Amino acid sequence: MSDYDIIVIGGGIVGAASALKIKREKPGLSVLLLEKEAAAAQHQTGRNSGVIHAGVYYAPDSLKAKYCREGLQRTIAWCQQYDLPYQQCGKLIVATDEQEEARLQQLYLRCQQNQLQPELLSAAQLRAKAPAISGSAAMFIQQTGITDYKRLTAHFLAQFEQLGGKVRFNTQVDQLEENEHKVRVVCKSEQFSAAQVLNCAGVYSDELIRQLKPDIDWRIIPFKGEYFRLPEKYNRIVEHLIYPVPDPQLPFLGVHLTLMIGGYVTVGPNAVLALGKEAYGKTELQFHQFVDMLCYSGFRQVVKKNWRSGMEEFRNSLNKRGYLKLVQKYCPQIQLQDLLPYPAGIRAQAVSDNGELIHDFRFAETARSLHVGNAPSPAATSALPIADAIYSKLADKL
Ligand SMILES: Cc1cc2nc3c(=O)[nH]c(=O)nc-3n(C[C@H](O)[C@H](O)[C@H](O)COP(=O)(O)OP(=O)(O)OC[C@H]3O[C@@H](n4cnc5c(N)ncnc54)[C@H](O)[C@@H]3O)c2cc1C
Repeated sequence: MSDYDIIVIGGGIVGAASALKIKREKPGLSVLLLEKEAAAAQHQTGRNSGVIHAGVYYAPDSLKAKYCREGLQRTIAWCQQYDLPYQQCGKLIVATDEQEEARLQQLYLRCQQNQLQPELLSAAQLRAKAPAISGSAAMFIQQTGITDYKRLTAHFLAQFEQLGGKVRFNTQVDQLEENEHKVRVVCKSEQFSAAQVLNCAGVYSDELIRQLKPDIDWRIIPFKGEYFRLPEKYNRIVEHLIYPVPDPQLPFLGVHLTLMIGGYVTVGPNAVLALGKEAYGKTELQFHQFVDMLCYSGFRQVVKKNWRSGMEEFRNSLNKRGYLKLVQKYCPQIQLQDLLPYPAGIRAQAVSDNGELIHDFRFAETARSLHVGNAPSPAATSALPIADAIYSKLADKL
C-alpha cells in the first residue's frame, strides 16, 4: 500500500488548484491526486458557462463574495501570466418589466456593497450597447469575464506534476477509513494511505464525508443546467454576457447568453432537478441514486417548497418552446431552430436536512481529513482563493 503525506480526491478545478497550492507551499510533501475519470475537469468544471464572475449577487459578508472578488483578479492575472485564454467582456443584466427594474435597483446597491462600479442603463442606452437585446433597463458590470476552466485545471495539474506531485486518473475512491495515525483510501483495485485526505469530489463529496463524519446535517442534491449553442451566424450577436435579473428566491442565475472562449455563443443554463448525480441526458435516471434522494428528508422538503418553480423548469426542459421564451424575453430574434444541442452540466448543490438550499461554501473536518462540502458557482472563478483557504486549514497538520 503506497503511503502519502496527503491525498487529494477529485481532479476538478478545486482539487487541482488545492493540490498545486499544497505542493508549492510544501514542496517536500508527497502529494497524490486521485480522479475517477480518464481526464481532469469532466464534471462541473468542464461543463459550465466559463464565466469569471465579478461578485454581483453575493451577500457582502459571505465567503462567496470574498473569494469571488479575489478570484476575479487572480484568475485574470493567472491567465495573463501563463498565456491562457480569457476575455474581460463585461456583463449586462437586463430587466424587462417594472418588477425586474426594482430588483435591478437592489442588485445595483448589492454591487456597490461588493466593491464593484456598476453602470445603470436606460432602455435606449441598452439598445446602443447591445442592439440585439431588448429590455426596459439594464446594469453593466465591466469587470466580468470569460475563460476556459478545463484548460485552467489542466494547467494547474501540469504545474503540480512539474513540482513532483502525482496524478492518477481512472482511480475512483470508494472507501475512506480513518484511524489515529492514517487514513486508508480504498479504490477498486488498489489502496493508498495518507496522513491527511482532502476531499474535492464535487457532487460525490457528501458520500465520502459521511464515511468519516456521519453526523453532517446536509447532502448534495444534483441540479442539472441545460444549454443550447447558437449557430455560427450569431457568434457576434452580443459583445457582452447577457443575464436576466435573477429571482431572489432561487440560487441560480437564470438562462443567459454567454460568449464562449471558442468564439461561439451559448444559451443557458436552466436549473432542473437531475435524476442522478451524473444523469446528464434529458430523461436519464440513475435509479439507485434517485431512490436514495427520495429517502432523504431534505430533498423532499426542497421539492415541497419549490414544486411550482421546479415543475416550470421541468416543463421548459422537456419543451424547447418554453425554454425559447426565456431567451426571447430579452433577445427576440432567436428562433426555435437556432437552439442547437450542447452538453449539460450538473451542479453539486448542498441542501440541509430541513430543506434549505445552502448558498455559501461549506467545509467539514475530522482530525485527518478536510472536505469541501459545498462549492457552488462561482467556485470556478474562486478556485485560487479557495485553494488558499484550504491550505491554511491544513497547514498546521501537514
Ligand atoms: C451548469 C453550471 C454552470 C456553472 N457556471 C459557472 C461559471 O460560469 N463560473 C463559475 O465560476 N462557476 C460556475 N459553475 C460552478 C463551477 O463549475 C463549480 O463550482 C466548480 O467547477 C466546482 O469544482 P469542483 O472541483 O469542486 O467540482 P468538479 O468539477 O465537479 O470536480 C469534482 C471531481 O471529483 C471527481 N470525483 C468525484 N468522486 C470521486 C471519487 N470517489 N474518486 C475520485 N474522483 C472523484 C469527479 O470526477 C470530478 O472530476 C457552474 C456549474 C455548473 C454545473
